[in-house]
Amino acid sequence: MNTAEIRRRFLDYFATRGHEVVPSAPLLYNDPTLLFVNAGMVPFKPYFTGAETAPFDRATSVQKCVRTLDIEEVGKTTRHGTFFQMNGNFSFGDYFKAEAIRYAWELVTGSQDAGGLGFDPERVWVTVLHSDDEAAALWANIAGLPAERIQRRGLLDNYWHMGIPGPGGPCSEIYIDRGPAYGRDGGPVVDEDRFLEIWNLVFMQEELSTVRAKDDFDTLGDLPRKNIDTGMGLERVALLLQDVDNLYEIDQVFPVIQRAVELSGRRYGRGGDDGRQDDVRMRVVADHIRSSLMLIADGVTPGNEARGYVLRRLLRRTVRSMRLLGVHDPVLPELLPVSRDAMGAAYPEVVENFDRIAGIAYGEEDAFRRTLTTGTQIFDLAVSDAKTAQQPQLSGERAFQLHDTYGFPIDLTLEMASEQGLSVDADGFRRLMQEQRDRAKADAKSKKAGAASTEVYRELRALGLTPFTGYEELVTESRVRG
Ligand code: ATP
Ligand code: MG
Ligand code: MG
Ligand code: MG
Repeated sequence: MNTAEIRRRFLDYFATRGHEVVPSAPLLYNDPTLLFVNAGMVPFKPYFTGAETAPFDRATSVQKCVRTLDIEEVGKTTRHGTFFQMNGNFSFGDYFKAEAIRYAWELVTGSQDAGGLGFDPERVWVTVLHSDDEAAALWANIAGLPAERIQRRGLLDNYWHMGIPGPGGPCSEIYIDRGPAYGRDGGPVVDEDRFLEIWNLVFMQEELSTVRAKDDFDTLGDLPRKNIDTGMGLERVALLLQDVDNLYEIDQVFPVIQRAVELSGRRYGRGGDDGRQDDVRMRVVADHIRSSLMLIADGVTPGNEARGYVLRRLLRRTVRSMRLLGVHDPVLPELLPVSRDAMGAAYPEVVENFDRIAGIAYGEEDAFRRTLTTGTQIFDLAVSDAKTAQQPQLSGERAFQLHDTYGFPIDLTLEMASEQGLSVDADGFRRLMQEQRDRAKADAKSKKAGAASTEVYRELRALGLTPFTGYEELVTESRVRG
């Protein structure tokens, strides 16, 4: 079943059950606590917090999401994209736990002939919050799941709140067992590669007065109107229903891997250590190309402030990964149109605006190629110095300087050094990186405490970024708002 069909089935299922079909909001959304929309509920936040009254009692959407926090997972796990689409159904003070569970079960296990997704009920496992006996009982009664397949977990895994006073509540997550070929038996608590999380149901039932941490907060009592917020990973369902190994092999993503194979002349999925490394690079390329396409389509341009920097990093990482695959010519003109063709049916705007999108992307590649050229000159100098001094190694200082001053990525330095028969003082490099990070941390600490709690801060930290203007602006805004 292709991704478009799964999307259609999801929306149809909930539309038939009285849900308003709401189009995806753009990735750049008016929410200063976020870099990009990262969940289906984001555009509905004002309805959940009570700031605004929802114009409908129930809604459904397929929301474009970008999660920069997941960037390091890409290509290594089977299930994380920087861009992905979240299917959701939402109740604003209308139906609650029983109906949310009933709908989810019916859609997941309903036969494909009758509009369902057709998963074998025997492969479904769920988790609930340890204290949520109600949800556990509903799963047993509605779905007939045995106790073993209703696993209980703590607040860290199965409780949702926004990190600030407001609505919160337990979650229940749905997993599909991919079978023994993918890992150990025993359910998602034991192995999350084998048991793939596809859907998170959030039961917003209480109001929090103080939030100290994800698992440390005070509650005021039940919300007068309880809400449902769910998120199903469209790509995850697609990878299961298309019977492929991972998210990067679904219909909307794989054509870019195939193009990378043609361009590099290397095989995908050939096994062995080198093969695995190439596979990860190709998956990174396919993921990042798609995210870049969707981000530029929604108005992001490469730059040095927070959002632009994420895009810049995605594009540069693509170019760099292709270099490591042996492709030194410009790659974006080869890859971006392939992604456009894979995404265009679902998002006509990437076709309509392709000239503008391509101009921005190709310009960034040109600029990065110039950086690489300058960096290469500095690198060559460092090599001849080392050789003259008869040292088998490039110093950590040189590697750091290349990285810090010339934006020359360390893995490229490593690779090029080894081509010259030299190693790199990686410990020295790491020490200098750490010193830089410590300086950044001390700098961040000296700023107001409120900063540390925002999602933006976490995202930027995960990217290894030091605070800069864009970050300051965002944090200031969110402080004013909070
Ligand atoms: P995981 O534990 O696998 O990282 P999550 O618990 O962080 O997922 P949620 O925040 O619960 O994910 O988001 C709801 C759903 O969105 C998930 O159940 C999953 O199907 C999907 N999803 C989340 N992150 C990603 C991602 N990076 N790529 C693709 N799908 C995702
Ligand atoms: Mg996650
Ligand atoms: Mg999870
Ligand atoms: Mg989850």
